[in-house]
Amino acid sequence: MRIGLGYDVHRLVAGRPLILGGIEIPSDKGLLGHSDGDAIAHALIDALLGAAGEGDIGRLFPDTDPTTEGVRSTILLRDVVARLRKKGFRIAHADAVVIAEFPRLGPHFGAMKDVLCPLLGLGRTSLGLKAKTQEGLGDIGRRRAIACWAVASLRKIPRRKPRP
Ligand code: MG
Repeated sequence: MRIGLGYDVHRLVAGRPLILGGIEIPSDKGLLGHSDGDAIAHALIDALLGAAGEGDIGRLFPDTDPTTEGVRSTILLRDVVARLRKKGFRIAHADAVVIAEFPRLGPHFGAMKDVLCPLLGLGRTSLGLKAKTQEGLGDIGRRRAIACWAVASLRKIPRRKPRP
């Protein structure tokens, strides 16, 4: 069993859709980023890569790469899951906490799980999604950013011995 930790933060700006956990959430501001800025997907990606010992999101998908400009982060997440499977890892569980002063995210976790659980190959009780406010403190508290922490655990699938 291997555990990985991921963290991400993106600025909230006007004129962008708010994409979090693979879904669009009604909001007057969205997350700024080279991709769609989905901090939940990015934190999950880093947790998965960390658990597998496969580096981090910046190394795999550099923000200087024009082919990933504006890409949906669920596509990047799918790519990482496939990469891990090829290395013989199966995702056992993942858990994330989003730090956002607004909007209220609780009502959207069901829809996020509809997208993320099949993508990660997890049952709904094996993906944790939680939200916290920053109690008005700092840039997140002033609604200038949203951050996310995530952990993920992987199991190495034993290789089958070739038949004699
Ligand atoms: Mg990011």
